[in-house]
Amino acid sequence: MYYYDIQGIKLTDLAARFGTPLYVYDADKIIEKISVLRQSFDGINLKIKYACKANTNISILKLMHKHGVEIDVVSPQELELALKAGYKGEQVTFTPSGVSFDEIETAIEAGAKINLDNLDVLEKFGQKYGNSIGCLIRIKPHVFGGGNEKIMTAHPESKFGISIHQKEEILAVVEKYNIKVIGLHQHTGSDVKNADSFTQAASAILDLAFSFKDLEIIDLGGGFKVAYKEGDVVTDMEEVGKVLGGAFLDFCEKYGKPLQLWFEPGKFLVSESGTFLSTANVVKKDPVKTFVGINSGLNHLIRPMMYAAYHDIFNASNADNSVQDSYRVVGYICETDTFSFDTEGKPNERLMNKVEAGDIIAMKNAGAYGFTMSSNYNARFKPAEVMVYEGKAHLIRKRETMEDILRNQVEIEL
Ligand SMILES: *Cc1c(COP(=O)(O)O)cnc(C)c1O
Repeated sequence: MYYYDIQGIKLTDLAARFGTPLYVYDADKIIEKISVLRQSFDGINLKIKYACKANTNISILKLMHKHGVEIDVVSPQELELALKAGYKGEQVTFTPSGVSFDEIETAIEAGAKINLDNLDVLEKFGQKYGNSIGCLIRIKPHVFGGGNEKIMTAHPESKFGISIHQKEEILAVVEKYNIKVIGLHQHTGSDVKNADSFTQAASAILDLAFSFKDLEIIDLGGGFKVAYKEGDVVTDMEEVGKVLGGAFLDFCEKYGKPLQLWFEPGKFLVSESGTFLSTANVVKKDPVKTFVGINSGLNHLIRPMMYAAYHDIFNASNADNSVQDSYRVVGYICETDTFSFDTEGKPNERLMNKVEAGDIIAMKNAGAYGFTMSSNYNARFKPAEVMVYEGKAHLIRKRETMEDILRNQVEIEL
């Protein structure tokens, strides 16, 4: 249920020491998730490629690196961060969507593996590199999976990947330039609950794989659903491991070669490690509901307003549940920015231990797509970030100042 400390350090002490709004990450939780994933695929030549767009703080990347997790990037800037964090080019996969070809060249120069998701780009790649280097191809398997339409990526209308129905076109380009396809990739979407969606997508990819003779890698993407609240349906990793692992080993036997199985989880590795701490500025009693207004908004955590994401919210300053009330938790941005949504995607009220102005309001599951999606909207500073590592709290990103807001602005004479 609710936790009031991370590795023995009270959330309220972290808020007092580093100020709010504040993102806090529990390194132990990340390490635990890495090992859950590894255990689920015991006996498989597994590589975990952290989809770092979920959280690109360099200290998080270093933690992944230290624990043998490789990395998936979607922009040259993420690539650069990965290299700075200690990754070698060859440990990086570049999985872009609709980028210009020079970004692909940049990644290749850095030694990264490339996922191509467009026939024209595959053609360009063939013209320029022939079979001098290998590539992966991102396939759209026409599978419905994922929490909602904004985070589904493999259904027929998705912009991602080359349609599995264009197999002949893919093979024609591959043959024309003698392209060395070392891997097939698919990513179903985010918050995929059932092992079924993974299995469906995997079997489509594995069928297709027989048409490519140089494969070394099958990459099944990310998107594992994590727990957002008590009793939530999550991806059953043990089950996914058993079913997919089995199908993969069968495939390798028929293919006649042991391949590597890759996954690119983002959320699964970091979501639950993160807690977002804010301070209740106001408690506003309305005739029909009571609002808690916090010192943050959609500028710092946009997931609720962007795709009605559910975040558990609790009063970290008050563990006494004998007096509770229902609160709608809102931000300070001059737009409706509600944090509390129900699981149907509607704004709601949350039962919380009595809130008073000044209390620390905590939100769970803030480790993925939290800080990375934050902005300076309303000219507000972005939050600081802290990682609790081996029982100690470390500041891993300073809170912004007015200088950051003004950096790159150019004042002209008027
Ligand atoms: C975003 C993304 C992921 C990670 O998705 P999660 O839901 O965070 O696991 C994996 N692969 C690709 C290609 C992505 O774009």
